[in-house]
Amino acid sequence: MTDAPLDPNLGGGEGSEEERLRPSSLSQFIGQAPLVHNLQVAMGAAQKRGDVLDHVLFCGPPGLGKTTLARIISEEMGGRLHSANGPALSKPADLASILTQLEEGDVFFLDEIHRISPVLEEYLYSAMEDFVIDIVLEPGTPNSRAIRLDLPPFTLVGATTKEGSMQAPFRDRFGIVERLKYYGVEDLQKVVERSARIYELDVEGGAARELASRSRGTPRIANRFLRRARDLATLEGEGPLTLAMVERCLEMLDVDDLGLQYLDRRILEVLYESGSRPIGLNAIAVAIGEDRATVEDVYEPFLVQRGLIQKTGQGRMLTDRGMIRVHRWQSPL
Ligand code: ADP
Repeated sequence: MTDAPLDPNLGGGEGSEEERLRPSSLSQFIGQAPLVHNLQVAMGAAQKRGDVLDHVLFCGPPGLGKTTLARIISEEMGGRLHSANGPALSKPADLASILTQLEEGDVFFLDEIHRISPVLEEYLYSAMEDFVIDIVLEPGTPNSRAIRLDLPPFTLVGATTKEGSMQAPFRDRFGIVERLKYYGVEDLQKVVERSARIYELDVEGGAARELASRSRGTPRIANRFLRRARDLATLEGEGPLTLAMVERCLEMLDVDDLGLQYLDRRILEVLYESGSRPIGLNAIAVAIGEDRATVEDVYEPFLVQRGLIQKTGQGRMLTDRGMIRVHRWQSPL
């Protein structure tokens, strides 16, 4: 059995499977109660006034539901969804071609919004605030000229794994800013059970709970582990997915009781080896052979949330809890 990469951004070729499991309304969206409540209020009020929804920024680690929420907003507000990825938009024309297709009430979902270029950010400012965009025609030629296009009122839904790297004036242009949190075991168990129903897979309660408690608080990972466990259940006959199968599956995937995988453990080991000296992000990335952004956006937030590492001004360090954890696997009883 091969594991898909831990990075929940990397779909591992499982994109269409994800689509199948995506909740299509807020009522199907599990957990994140305060956020869901705030959205319900904002959407209900906008609908009642006949306005388009204010621009929305979703912040949080990958796989927690930002894209899903953007889709739900477009469904529930009755607009079309236009999606783009920040780093894939390289020139103003790329952005202009999307903005000029928008109709009133449409949703423009811009994933990884913190990675758009400063030039495009400027274009977005006027699009967000005044619903206009200035386009330069035939740039660099003697005929170069600027024209101003009016845009219909639309909702920009931005998603970012790194709120801190967005400039404050940019962030402030979003009327609604919501942060997604890692899911608790109970909510993740509901995610697993909902997905199992869609797959028409019978899952024992203990099996669903085990999957939930070892999925890093992340629905995308819980769904991925469920698919791998389903493979085992399929091979082994007609019965339900049992706790024993889940345990075996997670062992094959090298996922420990906290949901840590190989690279998480490598990060903890690198910090352990440094003793009490803090280590910089770059040094960690080099030591484990991953890129800096992945370490920072994918691995670290969960290790911090579980109280295993801490970030200080000088770098990263193991907490006492992290120390005990490494001890445990370095000197098993
Ligand atoms: P992000 O955009 O934050 O990386 P996604 O919205 O793509 O995350 O969510 C990843 C997958 O997890 C989706 O396919 C969806 O099936 C599932 N998912 C995320 N949040 C929830 C939720 N609250 N309830 C049920 N499923 C969810």
